Amino acid sequence: MAKQMNDGLSRRDFLKGAAVVGGAAGLGAMGLPGVASAAEADADWMPKKWDYTTDVLVIGTGYAGQGAAIEAAKHGAHVLVIEKAPFRERGGNSRVCGQGLLAPSPAIHEDYITYLTHMTEGQGFPTTHGEGFTSDDTIRFYVEQSFETRTWFESLGMPLKGANNGGGPGRWMPFYPHFPGADAIGTEDQYWTHTSKVAGAEPKAGNVWANLEKWILDNTDVEFMYKTAAKKLVQNPNTREVLGLIVTQGGKEKAIKARKGVVVCAGGWEYNWDMVRDFNHMPELYSIGGPFNTGETIKMCWDAGAAPRNMGVTAAPTYRCAGVMPGYKGTIQLSNTTRQGPFIMIGRNNKRFIDEFRGSVAGLQNKAISELEGTLTVSGQELRDGAYVPQSNPEPIHMIFDEVGLKSGAMFSMFFGWAYYVEGFRGSADNSAELANGWILKGDTIEELAEKMGRDPAQVQATIDKWNEDCDAGKDTQFDHGDPTRAPYARPANRLQKFTDGPFYAIACHQCTLNTQGGMVRNLKSQVMSIEGPPIPRLYAAGENGDIFTILYQCMSNAGSGCLVHGRVAGGEAAQLESWDAPAAKKAAAAKAAPKKAKKPAAKKKATRK
Ligand SMILES: Cc1cc2nc3c(=O)[nH]c(=O)nc-3n(C[C@H](O)[C@H](O)[C@H](O)COP(=O)(O)OP(=O)(O)OC[C@H]3O[C@@H](n4cnc5c(N)ncnc54)[C@H](O)[C@@H]3O)c2cc1C
Repeated sequence: MAKQMNDGLSRRDFLKGAAVVGGAAGLGAMGLPGVASAAEADADWMPKKWDYTTDVLVIGTGYAGQGAAIEAAKHGAHVLVIEKAPFRERGGNSRVCGQGLLAPSPAIHEDYITYLTHMTEGQGFPTTHGEGFTSDDTIRFYVEQSFETRTWFESLGMPLKGANNGGGPGRWMPFYPHFPGADAIGTEDQYWTHTSKVAGAEPKAGNVWANLEKWILDNTDVEFMYKTAAKKLVQNPNTREVLGLIVTQGGKEKAIKARKGVVVCAGGWEYNWDMVRDFNHMPELYSIGGPFNTGETIKMCWDAGAAPRNMGVTAAPTYRCAGVMPGYKGTIQLSNTTRQGPFIMIGRNNKRFIDEFRGSVAGLQNKAISELEGTLTVSGQELRDGAYVPQSNPEPIHMIFDEVGLKSGAMFSMFFGWAYYVEGFRGSADNSAELANGWILKGDTIEELAEKMGRDPAQVQATIDKWNEDCDAGKDTQFDHGDPTRAPYARPANRLQKFTDGPFYAIACHQCTLNTQGGMVRNLKSQVMSIEGPPIPRLYAAGENGDIFTILYQCMSNAGSGCLVHGRVAGGEAAQLESWDAPAAKKAAAAKAAPKKAKKPAAKKKATRK
């Protein structure tokens, strides 16, 4: 029966013979006393004792960790999942994401592979860098395995159902319609989700994540330890083999022996601004996902020799968030635009820097227009000099609107994300709460508003005047360069509205992402690759700590389905390894033997929580 422990294992659990075995108690049947050789037992890199022992150690309770845990358990391995967050805050981005999973039909696989190949090439990167990078093989594997996700959920008794994400009935929307393969994608029903949450699943979470967690609790012996943070891999410096992990638990360091492998599924570094500055070249970046993703396991893997990948990449950055507000850990998101009335965004120099309306044109990116305008939305990239580059982030940024906009609907509306699901944030429908607490600034004049924003009133007024002139002329001269193909994306006349009478309003906005995507290079077996090339023995990774995609973002692609795919692969692969502490003869015999057959999951049992 699966177990969830908020502070790691108590001594009582251990003595009662919990499946996570500690120290000598777990070693009786395993031959050598927990080390590969007598010499290594005394090595200074080997922990003096192992506090816990498992076969497959999974770090993180998101999709990648869930996929890894399920597959490792299905292969008969004992699985321990550790999670840095407390029980109530487990689950990372996966718990609070949109829960849409990509699972393309075989009929469009070739087109989709072509499309994704162009996506990875969009920045001018070649697709083939060798094993482990975004090679043709990697993309093909990802697409085919994403389809297998349907079969996988069916095997768990939780079939996915198709829906659409705004592209019309049953259609999925390619963000780059000019890329080859896009048309076929537009015919596909790509948004797969669970119809409903199963009884007893976590209520403050999205359906897919909650149902997967419930399945694990009911059907496996997987153990969960919360408030247990991965710190350092235990690695043989001579062979690079990973033997276990040092964690921090209750302020103390503990050693966990992983007899078969360690699977790192601890997400990205959305809430670590040092890494944001170092790798994303931004002054600050917010995420509406889980606040425990701070990237230390990525550095931990580099420390063990892992090769870095895609460190500059974030998924779907937009400017529409208010940041982490007092009383919340998760970022508060803003609605796309005001529904009516004038609406502009200004950057550091008090000027407009983006076609603000494009964000609500459902994300379609048109190359010709983008090249002319130098602006794109949703993907967070723009075409400059013919190549995709990340959009600028001219902090401080404010959105400015008027009374019509204020009254047109909730500005702080969320329907997913950490603050929404876990912290229960609900913006006020009439914006009154946010006016009262100062999240929305108010000025009877532009001058007064500018002062409240901490900006030069004359410069802000000049931007407003220019905007008003454009509205009179019926054309956004800053971003509409007259390209006829712009028509479908042009700002409709009713959104070219002048600022006239006060009061005026402003909200401080920040660049916000779903997740960072960089981390470690891994191969098709989800093994972590070393800087020198070969995989690091017994070290696996999955999820948003080394995504295969480069900077272009396609909804449902650089996301959850890939985490599940690589998590499943990692868990299954690690579980089939012979334990590193098995006697040499057994190891040799196992090396010759055929791969183990997957065990059926244990019969349905009742979940327990501690
Ligand atoms: C608001 C939002 C909407 C999204 N919508 C979609 C969508 O509809 N479809 C889609 O496919 N994708 C979507 N995504 C992206 C998707 O959520 C991610 O791609 C995916 O959830 C990442 O899964 P993961 O397992 O890699 O990481 P996570 O789910 O973030 O899990 C990482 C876990 O590791 C834990 N951890 C971190 N550090 C440590 C440590 N040192 N020790 C132990 N544990 C640690 C964290 O606490 C966390 O629980 C969305 C993301 C967001 C934020």
